Amino acid sequence: MRPAVFLDRDDTLIECRRLPTPAPPAKAGDLTDPALVRLLPGVAEGLTLLAGAGFALVVISNQGVVARGGATCERVEEINRRVSEAVVRAGGPRIDAFYFCPYHPQGGPGEFSREHPWRKPAPGMIVAASEELGLDLARSWLIGDVERDIEAGVAAGLRASRCLLIGEDRKLPDLQAAAEVVVAEVAGDRVLRGVEVAAVDLRPLEEGALDDARTRETVLASARSIAEQHGVRLVELGVADGALRLGVRADRMLALGFAAEVRRATNAWHRARTGSALWPGDAG
Ligand SMILES: [Mg+2]
Repeated sequence: MRPAVFLDRDDTLIECRRLPTPAPPAKAGDLTDPALVRLLPGVAEGLTLLAGAGFALVVISNQGVVARGGATCERVEEINRRVSEAVVRAGGPRIDAFYFCPYHPQGGPGEFSREHPWRKPAPGMIVAASEELGLDLARSWLIGDVERDIEAGVAAGLRASRCLLIGEDRKLPDLQAAAEVVVAEVAGDRVLRGVEVAAVDLRPLEEGALDDARTRETVLASARSIAEQHGVRLVELGVADGALRLGVRADRMLALGFAAEVRRATNAWHRARTGSALWPGDAG
């Protein structure tokens, strides 16, 4: 089962708060015109990181504007399509699914004017998505711009620490900043006594290649020696689950540079010995 990142839409992916107030019965903050869809900064970059880390991308959005009579469900769907297209046009990935709740207890005279289990802060949309798409909620995250988003995530059983609020005046200013938190946790990074520790796993091209004692010892020795040469503090070094785990007391960029150096050096050795590379992603 795939984990997901549940994403609020308005003021998380696209700008709404600052749009001109639409004509009644829609109200300020309602987006009713597909031509006004604009991605917020960092959205395409953030979604690329999340999709690359293997998360399904699922948008969950309250659209009380439908209950108010300011837009139809078809109009909301058209806007969602525009959001999806804008992300791809900006170089981002495909969004896996959009869920929205057209109900609102103080709507107009229509059928949608009532409370509904899908309306955040209730968890209905997350629960429905997880059943329909087969998602692993135990490993899922949520990103939104208001408390109600977070409450919906927690009510669905997501860990509170995995429900992230973003916004210009918050610690995480945009979707990219939030995505970096998600991806760092997945990669095994953590903060130790205020010092950043980044972990990188290198997986060999051929499964089980590190079961070979000589290969394993050479790789471990090479990592130690490169760390020493470059003054990199190794806090974790070993083979687990067929992959080489490098934990470095440094930021992520430095850890990735270090891992690249280990990969290059040991690939050269492995090629000389066997004629083929040990790791992927190194043409040399
Ligand atoms: Mg919002």
